[in-house]
Amino acid sequence: MRTAQDDKDTAGDIDSGDYRFWHVLVRDDFTSQLCGTRRNLQVHHISYRSHCGADSANNLLTVCQACHAAIHGGHIMLGACGG
Ligand SMILES: [Zn+2]
Repeated sequence: MRTAQDDKDTAGDIDSGDYRFWHVLVRDDFTSQLCGTRRNLQVHHISYRSHCGADSANNLLTVCQACHAAIHGGHIMLGACGG
């Protein structure tokens, strides 16, 4: 269920046993789509739910923990909603 943590886009922490987005991992071949590693994988929301993001596969991307942190730190820019 939703918790306060979801505000920080921690929905896909695979290491903690969260397999809600298993289909995304399968689609992305269990590989970080940014750096190619297969370790510490998480699922990133390309567009934040609080904006126009959704829990659809098109809006989810498999990344590793390091890439995920880089995205949220502003070091990696992904396509946002509205182009
Ligand atoms: Zn990575």
